[in-house]
Amino acid sequence: MATVTALDDRVLEGLAEIVGHQYVLTSKTARINRARVPSMFAVHRWEEHVPQVVVLPASAHEVSEIVKLANRERIPVVPRAGGTGLVDGAVPLNRGILVDIKRMDHVGEVDLAERAITVGPGVNMFKLNEMLRPYGVMYPDNPASYTCALVGGRIGTNGWSLLGARFGHVRNLVISFEIVLPTGEIIRVGEGGGIKTRSSSSGYRLKELFMGTQGTLGIVTEATLELVKRPEAEFSAFWLQRSYDTAWKTGGELMRSGYATIAGVMLFDERKVDFVRRDDEAYVPQPDWCEAVCAFALYGNRAEVRPAAKEMMRIAKASGGEYVGDEIAQLDWSARHDRYATPLHGRTPNGQVAPMSWHCEDAGIPYPKVPEIRKRWHAIVDDLVARHPIFDDWGMFSYTNGPYKPWGDMLCEIDVGIWEEHLDDETWGAWVDCKREIARASIEVGGTISAAHGSSRAGEVDLVPLELGGAYDVMKTIKRALDPNNIMNPGKYGLDSAYEDG
Ligand SMILES: Cc1cc2nc3c(=O)[nH]c(=O)nc-3n(C[C@H](O)[C@H](O)[C@H](O)COP(=O)(O)OP(=O)(O)OC[C@H]3O[C@@H](n4cnc5c(N)ncnc54)[C@H](O)[C@@H]3O)c2cc1C
Repeated sequence: MATVTALDDRVLEGLAEIVGHQYVLTSKTARINRARVPSMFAVHRWEEHVPQVVVLPASAHEVSEIVKLANRERIPVVPRAGGTGLVDGAVPLNRGILVDIKRMDHVGEVDLAERAITVGPGVNMFKLNEMLRPYGVMYPDNPASYTCALVGGRIGTNGWSLLGARFGHVRNLVISFEIVLPTGEIIRVGEGGGIKTRSSSSGYRLKELFMGTQGTLGIVTEATLELVKRPEAEFSAFWLQRSYDTAWKTGGELMRSGYATIAGVMLFDERKVDFVRRDDEAYVPQPDWCEAVCAFALYGNRAEVRPAAKEMMRIAKASGGEYVGDEIAQLDWSARHDRYATPLHGRTPNGQVAPMSWHCEDAGIPYPKVPEIRKRWHAIVDDLVARHPIFDDWGMFSYTNGPYKPWGDMLCEIDVGIWEEHLDDETWGAWVDCKREIARASIEVGGTISAAHGSSRAGEVDLVPLELGGAYDVMKTIKRALDPNNIMNPGKYGLDSAYEDG
């Protein structure tokens, strides 16, 4: 690893006075571990993005003091939560101070009357829900990274939940939160001035403004979360389909069926089926004729879920598909949090097993355009794989995207494996171009670059102005107004350009 310029002793001493010596980490291991991300990343140039120091604050006051110090000294600050983000958000592009928020994992009182709980940003959903179980309630943010993403990172990315059609996504589930601004002030944003109020028309919608910023507008230090009654019943069903077209049409009917208990409807295309088929740990036996999968999940009270399930099964059966059976369907649905194992099942095109890292596109695509984008994306990736066989097309899946309203558009994900060991400047450049084409196609069909993870990766980030139009200029104005010295996660979202002319 190249030598990284150490921060001034004076700065390190200042940080130690704020958080205590034992929470200022300067060792190579501590710093390298916190530069790591699971997504496709220019690993051959990794050493350029290792932080100079890691700090672990315990309170909003400490975070505020760190940020004030960094602002005085003009040192970049990068917040990091679980480190599971897939768009390099927590990678310190310009080095600096990495603020690891894992010690801020306090859990407040369970408020059953108002159905809310206040927690630190270092809390993870899996542990929180284990703790809430005896109370008969749960916090329903349920990403595939459920066991390892943390509340701070969920807000930092404006995350998307697998149960979103029933319970909403992060922006619907975080009622209010506290954030340290780039100049160190601590504010709370929510519905007006309320901590647990669900709706207010006072002032601007600042809660949403500070969500999905990838840490470019401040550091979240506390959040008040929505609690819902623990569902009495869960029903999941997987239907094997003879063609993608049938799966897509059936999925559309299920999405538009109007049942309020729908938590999600999902489609796998033939390449995703192939990927699952070659995967030694696949739960679903795949007959040769199976070209696609259409699946759905329902959550709610028994009295709602049972009749809805009957009707949804009738719709799916009418499509000519084959039901995989209750046991496999339940196993497959419960495996939704196992996606961390995905990269371990990489294969080169000639079938060789290879440890691959993983890119997953997460575009929001209008439902009528899903078949078209599937073809376009596969053609783009085929071209890349033909030129550089260190990449592998792992197929596409689509999932209902709208909170509470599971129709209109779908989160579409093409998964691409990459054999990182063989990455170099040429293959990295080819990947970035491919990623750009994938993102451009999403915009051209009337979709968005990202429905869940953010759009700050190489390749897609330069298309954000194309997607947002004039709103991107407003983003730059806001960034510059709130972060005059560009210390909060600089280099992200092309926002350095906000400082170019003065
Ligand atoms: C296997 C797997 C499955 C996944 N499935 C899903 C899924 O279903 N849905 C989904 O939405 N995402 C999914 N993701 C992506 C990822 O889990 C989410 O983006 C998640 O929200 C990131 O949370 P984190 O705690 O890991 O944050 P990090 O990766 O640490 O940070 C994410 C971003 O938030 C910023 N940030 C971190 N903490 C704070 C803070 N306190 N204040 C302000 N900004 C902060 C960081 O700087 C960074 O820009 C998946 C990832 C993996 C690896």
